[in-house]
Amino acid sequence: MARAIVALVGRPNVGKSTLFNRMAGLRKAIVEDTPGVTRDRIYEQAEWAGREFIVVDTGGIRFEEGDILAPEVKKQSELAIEEADVIVMVVDAREGVTPEDEMVAGILRRANKPVVLAANKVEDFKKHLGYLDFYRLGLGEPIPVSAIHGMNTDELLDAVIALLPPAEEEEKDELAVRIALVGRPNVGKSSLLNRLIGEERVIVSEIPGTTRDAIDTPFRYGGNRYVLIDTAGIRRKSRIKEPTERYSVLRALRAVERSDVVLIILDATERVTEQDKKIAGFVHEAGKSNIIIVNKWDLVKKTERTMKEFDDLIREELKFLAYSPILYISALTGQRVKQVIEVVDFVAEQYWRKVPTAELNKVLREAVAVNPPPGGGKKRVNIFYITQIKTGPPSFALFVNHPEELHFSYLRYLENTLRENFGFEGTPIRLVLRQRE
Ligand code: GDP
Ligand code: GDP
Repeated sequence: MARAIVALVGRPNVGKSTLFNRMAGLRKAIVEDTPGVTRDRIYEQAEWAGREFIVVDTGGIRFEEGDILAPEVKKQSELAIEEADVIVMVVDAREGVTPEDEMVAGILRRANKPVVLAANKVEDFKKHLGYLDFYRLGLGEPIPVSAIHGMNTDELLDAVIALLPPAEEEEKDELAVRIALVGRPNVGKSSLLNRLIGEERVIVSEIPGTTRDAIDTPFRYGGNRYVLIDTAGIRRKSRIKEPTERYSVLRALRAVERSDVVLIILDATERVTEQDKKIAGFVHEAGKSNIIIVNKWDLVKKTERTMKEFDDLIREELKFLAYSPILYISALTGQRVKQVIEVVDFVAEQYWRKVPTAELNKVLREAVAVNPPPGGGKKRVNIFYITQIKTGPPSFALFVNHPEELHFSYLRYLENTLRENFGFEGTPIRLVLRQRE
């Protein structure tokens, strides 16, 4: 189930990032923050009333260096309209309606997207009735909140949840592997896309995806079925030249959500950039299987050590993807492009893999015997049992007497042990702790 995207828009200083942090703080700590990509984030996983979604702070997407000017806010709003399912427009209730608010509201009114209007900085509902003035933005009822104190934010979240698209599985070909291509502008996404579908000349037809202008392309290879997610999005060249390229993360979110296997494409001539890390970090946190593809390999001057040096660099920069295969290709010459689909098949198999409970528990007992969980103070930590609760990605429940005492480092040890025994190459795996006496 692809999670919906909720974007915060509004002029600077109204409290978007404060609200963003509050919404991000709601999620249960099921997923550990990915080391190395936590700083300076524009997206976060969130959850409310049993619905998981992704919240994006468009205020963090800067197109120009220096002051945030009206054109910048305009672009951020347009991005939100393009990429989000629900938009939260944030205003400062203490300052009242400003011309910039009116500009943003105008853009949102013309778009065909659900909008919730959050009137922020209302700490005293009796005193600050000024927020009612925001009715005139024509975006419906302003919801007074205080992001800083978390006042009335539940009301706001209820309104957001009510506008999310229904939590139905989208209609899809269950037998096809859904592939997303992600990466910064110019790394070679559309070149690889053309290689993958063009060379084989087996395009069945293009089918519309869930979003307005997303087009998915099904194809067959070696008897198997695949769908390339959002091929229109890959082909469409961005008119906006973003110095920080933060926009490419936002672009990738929906495609990643809708896919099974993600091809994370790097440019060999630029190695691993901050932006690459952010995109890769999102893929990992979204729990999608993935392959690291180093493209433009034809441009690299090579000795017999070059590939090993690249391997080391990537493992260092993308530590959290230690489980992902790395492939060196040239979309231009076609070098090793055929291997891409072979590795996709392999990784997809790991992603959907189900391990019998008896085998899991045998491995667990051995792992605990070799390296018992450190006791938390006076409490003795016992791990009783493990069972696989889900595939895609493989997820396991661990039954433990004191889950709160089991440290992330011990979970990492268990994860590594599972990988040593069962593989799971290319797929994240999840361990969920369940309390049992
Ligand atoms: P952004 O530029 O829209 O992301 O705004 P920020 O989240 O950075 O907030 C701008 C300023 O408003 C900061 O000084 C915040 O501490 C303050 N602020 C944010 N939310 C509230 C609130 O609910 N009440 C009050 N009084 N101040 C707030
Ligand atoms: P996208 O923005 O990620 O879709 O990137 P494109 O596929 O449009 O490629 C950007 C530029 O890099 C184009 O000029 C391509 O011809 C070039 N390019 C793509 N792949 C390769 C490659 O493997 N080798 C070389 N030398 N150039 C490439």
